[in-house]
Amino acid sequence: MNNIIDLKNKDKAASSHTKKETLLEVINLKTHYPIKGGFFRRTISHVKAVDNVSFSVKKGETLGLVGESGCGKSTAGRTILKLLNPTAGKIMFDGEDITNLRGSKLRQRRKDFQMVFQDPYASLNPMQMVGDIITEPIHNYYPKKKSREIKQEVLELLNRVGLPDDAYYKYAHEFSGGQRQRIGIARALALKPKLIIADEPVSALDVSVQSQVLNLLNELQDDFDLTYLFIAHDLSVVKHMSDRIGIMYLGHIVEIADKHSIYKEPLHPYTQALISAVPEPDPKRKKQRIVLQGDVPSPENPPSGCPFHTRCPMAVDKCSTITPELKEVKPGHHAACILVD
Ligand code: SF4
Repeated sequence: MNNIIDLKNKDKAASSHTKKETLLEVINLKTHYPIKGGFFRRTISHVKAVDNVSFSVKKGETLGLVGESGCGKSTAGRTILKLLNPTAGKIMFDGEDITNLRGSKLRQRRKDFQMVFQDPYASLNPMQMVGDIITEPIHNYYPKKKSREIKQEVLELLNRVGLPDDAYYKYAHEFSGGQRQRIGIARALALKPKLIIADEPVSALDVSVQSQVLNLLNELQDDFDLTYLFIAHDLSVVKHMSDRIGIMYLGHIVEIADKHSIYKEPLHPYTQALISAVPEPDPKRKKQRIVLQGDVPSPENPPSGCPFHTRCPMAVDKCSTITPELKEVKPGHHAACILVD
């Protein structure tokens, strides 16, 4: 992903992070799925997909959430969007507690937070023209708005994401993967949201078009005054997009800091292993790869103590009994490891 042009001055954004207002705050969030079994289909255990996760995102900021498949990052995103009900914890959005919002109040709030999905094709109705796909949410929320006015807005949105006017009358299958993702982005923008949760938005695309879509997202952030929660497994992509980065492992955030601190001085052994696997663009600078042993344990039966202790190359005896808190080690840099202080 070295060909990505960083269109925004992310450094500037990161340094001003503390001065901005908080848009999203997640406090001790848990999303546990019940597992049913036995003759009466009783709940016999739970998958702890998200377990005690806390973080905040400032207005205009991009927070990247990174981790291996199954670490809970997508579940966290869907819970924040209220597509899943949290088991415990609190979600504050723009000063309002939305944790238990339901019905018309939730519907009204929903226009402020939208999602861009990983698979643009699966998320677009193949039976609808692109114009109708983008018109639908506007029409639902603003039924009194004139059709002519909505059509003009939709055409402007299509042009803004790099699609021509005639895209309005075409169907999703007539477009390439990158163009479909542009349609998905236009749909997400239709209601002028404050927050966009982008869940692996480029991982299904060819490498050649990934950078175009990422650059588009960066441009749109400035134009539409957007805040992003950017979920991905690829650290190179997240580095280019994010001001700060949260590292997730087995439902927990194990480290969170601005992107420079995460890359230059990763504190948690898991982050250190992830960073060591990112290819070094300068072949003269060699770094030692940390290869983790074993697989990620099942979130249905997570290890006691530190969730990473079964794979951690630095683990000591007490790591299997003490669950480390996510604590601030340096200003703005939090890590959850008993060896880090
Ligand atoms: Fe490794 Fe122990 Fe730190 Fe967990 S607490 S990351 S097992 S050293």
